Amino acid sequence: MDWTALEAIDQLCARVYIGLRDDRLRSDDVVELACLLLDWGRYEPAVEEVVARRPEEIGPQRLRELAEQLLEGTAFLPDFRLAPERLVLLEQALATVAADLPPSWSGSTARLVPMSDSSPLDYKVELTGGRMHGNGLRTVDAEDLTSALIAVADHVQEGVMEFDWRVWPVCPVHHLGLHPVADGGTAVWQCRLGPHAVAAVGSLPPAARHDDGPRARGGREDRHARRRPSSGTGGQRGQSLPTPLE
Ligand SMILES: [Zn+2]
Repeated sequence: MDWTALEAIDQLCARVYIGLRDDRLRSDDVVELACLLLDWGRYEPAVEEVVARRPEEIGPQRLRELAEQLLEGTAFLPDFRLAPERLVLLEQALATVAADLPPSWSGSTARLVPMSDSSPLDYKVELTGGRMHGNGLRTVDAEDLTSALIAVADHVQEGVMEFDWRVWPVCPVHHLGLHPVADGGTAVWQCRLGPHAVAAVGSLPPAARHDDGPRARGGREDRHARRRPSSGTGGQRGQSLPTPLE
């Protein structure tokens, strides 16, 4: 398969994505995408069903499901040019998260900026003239407002802790670091002792926002080592050291 064919698949994925999002999915696009994927040697059930049946037989609801499965199968990720609504979600999330900043950061200007000129599709949070940085936010981080709040809170937390070398935010009861998680569809700051939710993201009480958190044990690398076991099924928990963040 050459680059031209891959580009054609990418363009069709983009059209199908927009069709799904704007509720104007064209069956021709779905069929063409399935045919290209078949040429590429992809024989997933969704590809075969689209190719084998006429769109009239499939019906609009089933066509949507199949189109979603085709996009999943290609691991298609829209960029912010294609999905500007996701950047809007990240901006809303940032405005909410900014309310939780420690007092020493209050008055900061918070905005999203492209990671770099060469990679305008990843964004990062910038506070007060570039005081913080992070690993970048992508469209996959903003599938809905809850996921955007969690991603931005995590991103801001990492930047603030790297700058201040203090654990933030902190559970007022247990004095442990909090982590942004989804709880019943709401983004909350959670303390792992219990665990218990301290507050919704954006509504931290002053006692959790203060600047006197315990010293962070290390910089970026330590923090990532701690986060990895909790964010997936990697099973590395046994390797992580107990720290104020755990
Ligand atoms: Zn607690």
